[in-house]
Amino acid sequence: MTNRFRAVRIIAGVAAGVFLLSLAAIAAPSPLFPYRLQRSNVVFHSRIPLPGESITFLDEGSRHISRSPLYSRNDKYDVFLCNSPALFDALTFGARGGGITNPWRNVFIRPGDIRGGRVFDRQGNDRAKDRDLAYYVAHELTHAMAFRKFGFLVSYGLSAFQREGYADYVARAANHDLAEEKSVMAANGPEVHPKQSGLYLRYEFLVAYRLECRRMSVEEVLTKPLPQKLVEGRFRAAGSCQ
Ligand SMILES: [Zn+2]
Repeated sequence: MTNRFRAVRIIAGVAAGVFLLSLAAIAAPSPLFPYRLQRSNVVFHSRIPLPGESITFLDEGSRHISRSPLYSRNDKYDVFLCNSPALFDALTFGARGGGITNPWRNVFIRPGDIRGGRVFDRQGNDRAKDRDLAYYVAHELTHAMAFRKFGFLVSYGLSAFQREGYADYVARAANHDLAEEKSVMAANGPEVHPKQSGLYLRYEFLVAYRLECRRMSVEEVLTKPLPQKLVEGRFRAAGSCQ
């Protein structure tokens, strides 16, 4: 065996080892998070002791998901509160956004001010004024519930408006009014453009329309991929909700 071939084999072996270790860490990250706090059927994992002030936000996030028909008190969920951007990036392969749920239904939340219930953006700024820790926990746990019920591949085969709209519909627990939401969409401000604003309001309106006005079940909304344009056309043409 030449020295060159031996070096290539060593490098390939190290790369494979790093890959397998990374996979193990994202599939079962608990050993990296020594502190645990269980609230109902959600276990929060942290690398630092969780301050008492954070419990209100963690409970609120868990409570919001209990309103979804996808929720079952017999299921258990794990939320990993990352206390450093480097840890969040390593466990999520540099995901954008305040949180992410992986195919193993592990929820990772970006670092922030956990006492104040805030999650910071990629640059470390507290920009999402209306989205607190409770919101991010509930949004990601809704993805985890959908993955459990319908499968990860089914969820990712949907249009973004279905997947993200339903997660925000549950997490924000907002009251919906079709006429008002149609006028917000017609005004066409940045808040209804997810790529501009980072908000899923447009998606949430479309999901609320399908659930509350078209009386569809969550299963119907989250299992059949639909083009966003088609649903938007129906939303714009709809009369009253009742
Ligand atoms: Zn999401």
